[in-house]
Amino acid sequence: MHLFFDDRQMQHLPQQYMVHGRIVDPFENPNRASNLIAALGPAGLAPAQVADAGLGPIAKIHQADYLDFLKVAYADFQALPKAGPEVLANVHSYRGASDGLTRGRCKPTGILGRAGWYMGDMSCAIMAGTWEAAYWSAQTAVTATDSLLATGKASFALCRPPGHHAYTDRASGFCYLNNAAIAAERLRSQFASVAIIDFDTHHGDGTQAIFYARPDVFYGSVHTDPSAYYPHFAGYADEFGSGAGAGFNLNLPLPQGADDAAYIRANASLAREVQRLGCQTLVLSAGWDAHKDDPLSKLNVTTAAFARIGDIWGSLNLPTVIIQEGGYSLQASAEAAPAFMRAFLAAAR
Ligand SMILES: [Zn+2]
Repeated sequence: MHLFFDDRQMQHLPQQYMVHGRIVDPFENPNRASNLIAALGPAGLAPAQVADAGLGPIAKIHQADYLDFLKVAYADFQALPKAGPEVLANVHSYRGASDGLTRGRCKPTGILGRAGWYMGDMSCAIMAGTWEAAYWSAQTAVTATDSLLATGKASFALCRPPGHHAYTDRASGFCYLNNAAIAAERLRSQFASVAIIDFDTHHGDGTQAIFYARPDVFYGSVHTDPSAYYPHFAGYADEFGSGAGAGFNLNLPLPQGADDAAYIRANASLAREVQRLGCQTLVLSAGWDAHKDDPLSKLNVTTAAFARIGDIWGSLNLPTVIIQEGGYSLQASAEAAPAFMRAFLAAAR
């Protein structure tokens, strides 16, 4: 299996992230990528080069006005009197939770209003290198997808910054461009139906919203119950999709403290749903932050569970692109990711 990564993804290194009312150092930092590259080599993942497919694949998911904002936000913000080191909004617009595809255009022209419109929370600061890094993170997903389409072999996109909290027109939760959505849309060129399965400990609210009204992309997620956990406003068990997409969204929230058995059982349920729906190809939004040692985790999931779910997803034997999402303990990620990959590769043979 190839591992795709581009060094330009390292250029995003924000300094600020709001936790419980305090600004702290972001957990999402470049060390996560180098840590995973080192950990996944012995599991048989060979690094391969990322190509530049341009803005086309990104623009199929994200609105043009949002992409324009991401490109210019830092420079515009720096023109403010006494500007801080990076773009953070101090006012946010109202937005519905799940079916968030249409809210019109952003009316403010000032950078503070645009930041509040296009940034959903205080965990997606924009600095000088953010656009470049997010662009190459998305290109990593595109190259990994093209590799699967060309060879039929599963591929791993080491996307960083991650993507599953990014909406068509909104950054949030460390995410700017929705890499899994971009990969799924690209797979649609050859497959009639795609499943995106998200086992990150946070619900992928951006991915859900992007495909909520579509029957051709099934979104299934196991995650921590959002009633007292990020992303708070989406990820509930009664969100099944809307319109033509009704029945093509499945959330399996787990209570805080849930163990390996519950996490594995939920993954197995999602796998059965993928089979029942007859999905032809698979995008895995792979986060390692359900691990009990992750600083953001409220679950009691161990490394052994990641090996078990690697077996579950590999056993489906579907053409698969694995997209890196969360995972913030270097130690836990360095154990969970290779455990998953070894089991996935062994089962997929
Ligand atoms: Zn996460």
